[in-house]
Amino acid sequence: MADEAEQSGLRILGDVLSAAHSAGDLSCLSPDLLARIADAFHLQRVSLFQVHEAEGRGIAATCVIDWRRPGLAFPAMTEGSHPPLTAAGGDPLLAQWAARRRRGETIIGRTRDLTGYLYGFFSHYGVVTFLTEPVMVHGRWWGHFCVDTPDAEHEWTAVERQAFKCIAAVLAGLLARSGTEGLVSEAARRAMLDTSIDAVIVADEAGAIVEFNHAAEAIFGHTREAVIGRPMTETIIPAHYIDRHRQGFMRHLATGENHIMRRLVEVEALRADGSVFPAELTVNEHRAGGRRLFSAFVRDISDRITSRRALERLAFTDMHTGLSNRTGLLRLCTGRPTRPSGAVVLMLRDLGVVKTSFGDDWAEPMIVETANLLSRMLPQEACLGRTGESEFTVVTWQPGAAAELAETLIGRLRSAIESGGRRFYLRVGLGVVERPGDATYLLRDAEMAARDCRDGHLLHFAEHMRAQHQQRLELEMALRDVIQRRTSALLLHYQPVVSARTGGLVGFEALVRWYSETHGPVSPALFVPLAEAGGFAERLGAWVIETAISACAGWNVRRRAHGLAPWHIAINLSATEVVAPDLIERVRQTMAFHGLPPQCVCFELTESAILNQPEIAIETLSRLRALGCTTAIDDFGTGYSSLSYLQRLPMDVLKIDRSFVLDMVDNSRSREIVRVMIEMAHGLGMSVVAEGVETTGALQILRQMGCDRAQGFLFGRAMPGDVAGTLPETLAPTG
Ligand code: C2E
Ligand code: CA
Ligand code: CA
Repeated sequence: MADEAEQSGLRILGDVLSAAHSAGDLSCLSPDLLARIADAFHLQRVSLFQVHEAEGRGIAATCVIDWRRPGLAFPAMTEGSHPPLTAAGGDPLLAQWAARRRRGETIIGRTRDLTGYLYGFFSHYGVVTFLTEPVMVHGRWWGHFCVDTPDAEHEWTAVERQAFKCIAAVLAGLLARSGTEGLVSEAARRAMLDTSIDAVIVADEAGAIVEFNHAAEAIFGHTREAVIGRPMTETIIPAHYIDRHRQGFMRHLATGENHIMRRLVEVEALRADGSVFPAELTVNEHRAGGRRLFSAFVRDISDRITSRRALERLAFTDMHTGLSNRTGLLRLCTGRPTRPSGAVVLMLRDLGVVKTSFGDDWAEPMIVETANLLSRMLPQEACLGRTGESEFTVVTWQPGAAAELAETLIGRLRSAIESGGRRFYLRVGLGVVERPGDATYLLRDAEMAARDCRDGHLLHFAEHMRAQHQQRLELEMALRDVIQRRTSALLLHYQPVVSARTGGLVGFEALVRWYSETHGPVSPALFVPLAEAGGFAERLGAWVIETAISACAGWNVRRRAHGLAPWHIAINLSATEVVAPDLIERVRQTMAFHGLPPQCVCFELTESAILNQPEIAIETLSRLRALGCTTAIDDFGTGYSSLSYLQRLPMDVLKIDRSFVLDMVDNSRSREIVRVMIEMAHGLGMSVVAEGVETTGALQILRQMGCDRAQGFLFGRAMPGDVAGTLPETLAPTG
């Protein structure tokens, strides 16, 4: 009997083996073959379970094959009508069984010996006696082959046990071959993996590493042997990523939902030495041998991230101070969870002038010290940036902090700043805005206030400023139009200049006038800077030069006819005109065209116009003198003027600013300043014109000081050219 059983057992094993060979996967386990296995061993049921070690959830087993003798009353195990068998179900015996199966042990038992979950499970399917044989694929517990008796208890014989072991081994071989391994030869597969420049890591459902190529060894610093079979969470995933990884992995296993599958994502990965590096990752899922496998392609992108960070630093940082630049500051602000409560903008008023006249040696410490000062005074919860060439911004998050900072700053800036053995005062304007809002708008408004603010003061932004700026914009557009079309709204008037000693009229200063249809008369003190900012000062200036030379030539024709000395004309040049490359040629041609001798033309420039681009301005002035024209420094005393500096300038005339002249009558200090200026100019071989002479008292003083010429309301305001042409020879009382 035993022989017969042995023989039929051997026969059936042979059948299983040859079926397996020809099919190459589990499809060889046809109902017919299973029926024959069952017949050979007098079995009512044959089943195959696959285990999933779902990470964080313990073990789950699902029935993949459940052959039952027709007519068997119990439900099919594949239908899963009983809740699945999991270790998390809480039966400690199950965990024990899992451990034994991992070691390849057979488990034999009777349902009546069981309790708890397992008892319930086995009873549900009518199992009385059972034998389970683990199926080991590549040394890992893949699942188990099960036989049971649903009708009576049974003692499994040694032959039966041996036969089931063989069947499990054949199934294992089948599964190993039908996986990815079955598709390409092992050698080709390894070669493919090992020549990949990306790390290739394959993990199973439990998160254990099943493949680790050469590149992975190089990138992660682990050997293949050291990581195979170990969880990714213990080897290549940094601690701070583990929870996120687990959640994502479990969600994917449970629902198929995934944020990284088949996408290029940036993550952080852990090296064997414990260091963490940025990596680029793509993950694919595939099935092999009935298992769900996950292949990750990992590339170390440390270099790319380093250069990206360097680029970001360049794009968002001011290189001189290391502070955020404008874009950087706005990015910082929008990155915060709440909106800022205010902002302070500090504008360095004379940085440009200092830079061009004294060079970077002076300008740099000014910038750096301002940055330092602001950094030291920075309130809590605030961001600081250099938002322009001569502009710093502090954005604050505590109500009242911006105003408070501005107050303290303005006090601090009254005393000198020291840096590198130099002492200097900062001429600043501070704009403040206190209201919650987007950083972009706060910055814009605080800038507006800083621009409108008087030197050394602070100004709180108010809505009406916006209206003013709007108006200025409209004005600029209207002016552009007037200059473009040269309408009669633009006029050139002439203010008399007399000999201080005799009151004799010697010439005029040309002053431009604009009568706007919508804005009424607009002061040149307002619209000339507008034309400069708008980029059409050159056009305006060209028209002034042409008109003034033509007018003066006209007067002088008549004067010559009457045997009178020619009049002079003084023309103001703006900062942009003085650096215009065609200025000299235009002036020369205009004078030649109208027949006005160059000696009759004087060009006036303020210091700030010269200091914008001093080299070019000085060159232009020299060439104007070479033509035969004279040059005058305008508004002297209001700028940086120093004696040594003045010496370097090719200037014939010094015009004392009207503020000193107006003040001089009642103020002895101003009087002294005017006296020194006159003496100094004469010492340098320059003649002196005093502007703003409104009273005979002022004229008297100037005469005593030896001033050469005078200009002011006492002699006349700027007037149309035809009126100017009819003025008498002497305009002030002599004597
Ligand atoms: P500025 O060159 O200093 O011109 C003298 C200014 O002082 C003129 O103001 C004139 O009207 C004013 N003024 C003359 N005498 C007196 C006086 O006795 N008392 C007082 N309080 N003021 C007096 P205006 O015409 O408003 O011109 C202002 C500024 O506009 C000029 O200052 C000049 O910088 C600029 N500007 C005027 N016309 C031109 C121009 O054609 N080209 C350029 N580039 N700038 C011009
Ligand atoms: Ca002038
Ligand atoms: Ca002036």
